[in-house]
Amino acid sequence: MGVAVSLEPSVKSFVGTPARKMLIDGKWVAAASGKTFDTLNPATGEVLAHVAEGDQEDIDRAVKAARRAFDDGKWAAMRPAERQRLLLAIADLIERHGKELAQLETLDNGKSLNESQNVDIPAAAETFRYYAGWVTKNYGETIPSDPAFFNFTLREPVGVCGQIIPWNFPLLMAAWKLGPALACGNTVVLKPAEQTPLTALRLGELLQEAGIPDGVVNIVPGFGPTAGGALVHHPQVDKIAFTGSTEVGKEIHRETSSTLKRVSLELGGKSPNIVFSDADVEAAVQGAIMGVFFNQGEVCCAGTRLFVEQKLHDQFADTLAKHAASLKVGDGLDPETRVGPLVSQEQYERVTGYLEIGKKEGAKALTGGARAKGLERGYFVAPTVFTGVKNSMRIAQEEIFGPVVSVLPFKDENDAVFQGNNTLYGLAAGVWTRDVSKAHRVARALRAGTVWVNCYNVFDPAAPFGGYKQSGYGRELGRYALDLYTQVKSVWMRI
Ligand code: NDP
Repeated sequence: MGVAVSLEPSVKSFVGTPARKMLIDGKWVAAASGKTFDTLNPATGEVLAHVAEGDQEDIDRAVKAARRAFDDGKWAAMRPAERQRLLLAIADLIERHGKELAQLETLDNGKSLNESQNVDIPAAAETFRYYAGWVTKNYGETIPSDPAFFNFTLREPVGVCGQIIPWNFPLLMAAWKLGPALACGNTVVLKPAEQTPLTALRLGELLQEAGIPDGVVNIVPGFGPTAGGALVHHPQVDKIAFTGSTEVGKEIHRETSSTLKRVSLELGGKSPNIVFSDADVEAAVQGAIMGVFFNQGEVCCAGTRLFVEQKLHDQFADTLAKHAASLKVGDGLDPETRVGPLVSQEQYERVTGYLEIGKKEGAKALTGGARAKGLERGYFVAPTVFTGVKNSMRIAQEEIFGPVVSVLPFKDENDAVFQGNNTLYGLAAGVWTRDVSKAHRVARALRAGTVWVNCYNVFDPAAPFGGYKQSGYGRELGRYALDLYTQVKSVWMRI
């Protein structure tokens, strides 16, 4: 076991008592009910911090603050260059506090420091910086029309946005949501996941330091059905942006119909990662590992259904299992750790439950299939490679959200595409081949919002991300996210 890094003094004080408060209208306040909840360290199961538990009353205060901050124009009508400067300042502050934020993320979520420090935190800063660029480029159009009139369009902010985020990339998901919303002039009430509220709360402090005006961003930690539900139902919220399970996404879709709020949903996945026998096999093995064990497999676009061409199948599965068995599982604060604990006891039970379901369905674990050995406490699951899986089995159809991959054989290109698409989901897919024409054909035939060819889990704030089918609707990132956070006004003037 390696030696865990020593914590930054600012991290120690942030997780210490008293309870962390919520940010409403520029002030850090306790919950109206006075209630708090605990957030745990997934590596130990011990309490990490106490956090104010927001519910309907707090959400109401936060929404009213966001409404005032929107309606008085201090944000939406700010000079674009000034709003841009503030978003750039947020990016700089995230970078300046990168070490501290990475440690906080690892403590709260469990993910390895290697990932939080090299992926989550820099990507969060880049996202704010990318959207800062758009603030000054939010153009409308002049429309050719009857010469007696002048018609032009304005791209205006939607208004007050309720943003509900999950626990797998806590700070990064906050950045994906806040970056475009703020760039377009909206105000926000953000509800972080109950398991991982800490980096969002620390981000709130950095937003204040950057100079974001009071009420523009309000951060209310709490539970889904109470705090999240209140946001979804609040009549003064114009838009809901949600990332999480398909089940809750469907509920939000239903619940927002009475107020016709705009909604964008980034939901679950069961992504096919397809390896043809003409692929660079070593690269494909590394890609398969990256595809499913990155972030302990707690990734919506994880390549959990690994389709391997029949003649390569057995050899590929064995090699993959050897690599998976060698991944170091442990406390995320240990710099050698590659696979940290799952986020919670509930998630641990869900994932180990699926391991048992898989075995009952007749799948064989070439490696893993149980709790990680030698780790008595915390929510550790051994990286697992299943073979003997049919695409119709539950482990091949339902989102597990842990370090578990099913390897399945396919006959030919048509069969790979058919099986790959045979799922309710459509978030992402991977293709491994040296044949350029085949890569193009398969990339087009797969019904998924992202297709990676000879790579996996590659992201850039400029590249859109989102789902087909029951993986949701709306595209985050890139210029596409601007459509989620603006509405178009058509102005006619008689000349
Ligand atoms: P949820 O979908 O329940 O949680 C995501 C967010 O939604 C959290 O902030 C949650 O709050 C909130 N929420 C929950 N219920 C409601 C509601 N009724 N109204 C408004 N907001 C709500 O995911 P879970 O944490 O329960 O994870 C379960 C499974 O979901 C995972 O195993 C995984 O399969 C999938 N998932 C997918 C993610 C993705 O990136 N697509 C991310 C996370 C999970 P709270 O934290 O209090 O529950």
